[in-house]
Amino acid sequence: MSEDFLHSSIEYLKGVGPERGRLLRAELGIKTFMDLLGHYPFRYVDRTRVWTVPEVFSEPEQEVQLVVRLQDLRALRGGRGKRLVGMAHCGPHEIELMWFKGIQWISKKMHLGRTYVIYGKPQRQKDKLIFAHPEMEELPEGRIFSGKGLQPVYSSTEKLSGKGLSSSGIAKLCRELIGRSEWDLPELFPAQWLAEFHWPARRSAMETIHAPSSSESLHQARERMKFEEFFLLQIHVLRHRIRIQNDFRGLAMERVGEAFHRFYEEVLPFDLTEAQKRVMKEIRSDMGNGKQMNRLLQGDVGSGKTIIALMSMLIAHDNGAQACLMAPTEILATQHYHSLKELLDPLNLNVRLLTGSTKKAAREEIHRCLQDGSLPFIVGTHALLEEVVRFRSLGLAVIDEQHRFGVAQRARLWKKGSTPPHVLVMTATPIPRTLAMSVHGDLDVSVIDELPPGRKAIKTAYRSESKRLEVIGFLKAEIEKGRQVYVVFPLIEESSKMDYKNLMEGYEHLQEMFPRPDYEVAIVHGRMKPEEKEHEMQRFAKGVCQILVATTVIEVGVNVPNASVMLLESCERFGLSQLHQLRGRVGRGADQSYCILMSGEQLSNEARKRIEIMVRTQDGFEIAEEDLKLRGPGDLLGTRQSGSLELKLASLVHDGPLLQLARVRAQKILASDQNLDAYPGVKKAYRERYGQKVNWGRIS
Ligand code: ADP
Ligand code: MG
Repeated sequence: MSEDFLHSSIEYLKGVGPERGRLLRAELGIKTFMDLLGHYPFRYVDRTRVWTVPEVFSEPEQEVQLVVRLQDLRALRGGRGKRLVGMAHCGPHEIELMWFKGIQWISKKMHLGRTYVIYGKPQRQKDKLIFAHPEMEELPEGRIFSGKGLQPVYSSTEKLSGKGLSSSGIAKLCRELIGRSEWDLPELFPAQWLAEFHWPARRSAMETIHAPSSSESLHQARERMKFEEFFLLQIHVLRHRIRIQNDFRGLAMERVGEAFHRFYEEVLPFDLTEAQKRVMKEIRSDMGNGKQMNRLLQGDVGSGKTIIALMSMLIAHDNGAQACLMAPTEILATQHYHSLKELLDPLNLNVRLLTGSTKKAAREEIHRCLQDGSLPFIVGTHALLEEVVRFRSLGLAVIDEQHRFGVAQRARLWKKGSTPPHVLVMTATPIPRTLAMSVHGDLDVSVIDELPPGRKAIKTAYRSESKRLEVIGFLKAEIEKGRQVYVVFPLIEESSKMDYKNLMEGYEHLQEMFPRPDYEVAIVHGRMKPEEKEHEMQRFAKGVCQILVATTVIEVGVNVPNASVMLLESCERFGLSQLHQLRGRVGRGADQSYCILMSGEQLSNEARKRIEIMVRTQDGFEIAEEDLKLRGPGDLLGTRQSGSLELKLASLVHDGPLLQLARVRAQKILASDQNLDAYPGVKKAYRERYGQKVNWGRIS
C-alpha cells in the first residue's frame, strides 16, 4: 500500500483514459487519484427508504423510491406531442409513468410483467401518482429490495456529462478507486482523539464519504474530515502568530501610571461597562508582558471603543512612549481628534491631527514634535504612514476600522521604531467569531459585547416608495420635537453618475419638502473638498441644520447624539453590514430613535432577506452571522484574504464548535512542539495543504 498510488495521473484509473482524463483536468481540476477522492459529493440522495403509495400522499412532496411491476407500456401521439406512457402496480395501487424523450430506447429496455425500482418526484393527480422520467432499475425476479442506501451526488459539467461523466459516472469512478487495495491515507491524528469523538480513521472516513453505509457513519466521517480541514487551517494561522511573537519582542509597559489614573478618576465621564473593563484588562496584560500586542478590538457601533483606545494610549504615555491613532478617512480622523482632545485637555496632554490636508507649516511642526518626542499623541489618516513621519518612540498604534488597512500597511507602522509598537486594531464591523479565528489568527480578539447603559433600541421599519409622504410627515414631526435626521443615499462608486444624480435629486426634493427659513438641509458626499465636508458636518453637528443628506461617507464614526432618525434611501442597494453601520449613527442619545428603510417596489429575494434581518434584530454579531450566510466568507473578506479559507467540507457558518475544538487542539500541540516533530503525519498533511507558504526556518 502506498500513497504514491494516489498521486498517479487520473487517466490511469480504470474507466478514465486519456480523453476523459484531459476533461477531468480541464473541467474540475482533477489531475490525480487523490484529487478525485477530494472531489467530495455535494449531497446525498437517501435511497434507503422504500415508500408505499399512501405514504407518498400523506407526506410533503419529495423524491421517493417505490418498487413497482410494469403492466402496460404504449407510445402515444397527441396534442402534446409524442410520449411514452406506462402503467404499473405498486402493491394494490396503480401509478403512471411518463417519458417525452428517449422513447425508443426506453421501450426497448423495459419489459411488461417485470419489477422495477423507480425513483423520482411524482405529481399527484387526485388519487394517482405520475412519475415523469423516473430513474429506473430492474429488480431481478425473486430478489427482495431493501434500499440502496445513501447515494452520493457529485458536481459535474456539461462537457463531462457528454462523455459519460455526469454525477453517476463520477460515482462509478470513485467506487472503482475506493475498491482498490493499493492506496492508503495514513492517519495523522493520535488514536485517542479518534476514540474520543468516535471518528473513523482517515482512510475509512474517505471511503465512507464516497460510499456511506448509513447516515450516522457518514456524519462521523464528515465531522472527522471537517475537523482536519479546520485543524490544518488553525495550525497555519497559529504558526504565523508564533512567528510574529518570536520575531518581534514588544515594549514591556508594566506601569499604569499617573496619566491613566488621573484620567480614570478625574476625567472619565461615566463608569466603564463590564465589557469595557474586561477588554481593558486584556489590553493592559498584553502591553505589559514584553511581547508585542496584536489585538483586534471588536465592538458594535456605539459600544465605546474610543475610550478604550484613549486609555491604552495613556498607558503608552505612562511608560514613556508616544501613541498614534489612525483612521481611514479624514472625517473620521477629525472626529477622533476632537473626542480625544476633549478628554486629554483636562490632563494637559497635547494631541494633534495630521491628514492630507494639514497645511505645510503645521505639518512640518508636527513632524518635528513627533521626532523630538515633545508631542505624545497624534491622530491621523494614511498621512501617518509616510516616510517623513518619524517618532522618537512610538509605543502604541491604534488603527480604527481595520478592514481598510492591509497587513502590509500595519507592517509599515512597525518600522517606525527599533522595537515595533503594540498594535490595537478596532473594528465596528463585527466579524463572526469563526471568521475572526480563521483569518485573524495572528490577532488576539477582544470583544465589547455590551452597549453602555440607557440606550434605547432603535425602532426599525421598512417602507416602500408609496409611503413616501407619510415618511416625510414623520420626519417633520420628529424635527418638531427638536430631533435631527440623516438621509443616506447609496453611492457605490463615488464616480457613479446615476447615483450622483439620484443623490442631488433627493437633496433638491428634500429642500422643497423642508423649505427655508423653517428648515436647513446640509449635504456631504465624496466629491466635496474636505473643508466643505467639514463645514457641512459642523452645521449639522451644531444643530444649525435639521437634516443631513449624505452618502456613505458618514458610515463610520460620526457622533451626533441629537440625531434620532436614519432614513436609508434605496436600501436594497446597501449590504447588510453597511445598513447596520449606518443605523448605528442614531440611538446615541436619550431619545427614542428610528431607522427607516426605503426602497422601490421591486425587490430581489436577497434584498428582502436583508431588510427582514434589519427589522428583526439590532445585534451586530447576529447580523454578521447572517451576512456570512448570505454572502459567504470570500465575499465578506475579498478573495485575497480568503485564499487560505478554501474549505471543502467544513463551513464557517455551520461548524463553529468544530472550529473551536480544532483551534484548542492546534494550540495545545504547538505550545510544546512548534515544528510538529512529534506529529509527522500532521506535518506532512499540513505541508501538502499549505505547501510553499510554510517556512520552517523562521521558527525555532
Ligand atoms: P464606538 O465603539 O462606535 O466607537 P464610541 O466610542 O464613539 O463608540 O462611543 C459611543 C458613545 O458612547 C460616545 O458618546 C461615548 O462617550 C459613549 N460611551 C462610551 N462608553 C460609555 C460608557 N461606559 N457609559 C456611557 N457612555 C459611554
Ligand atoms: Mg468609533
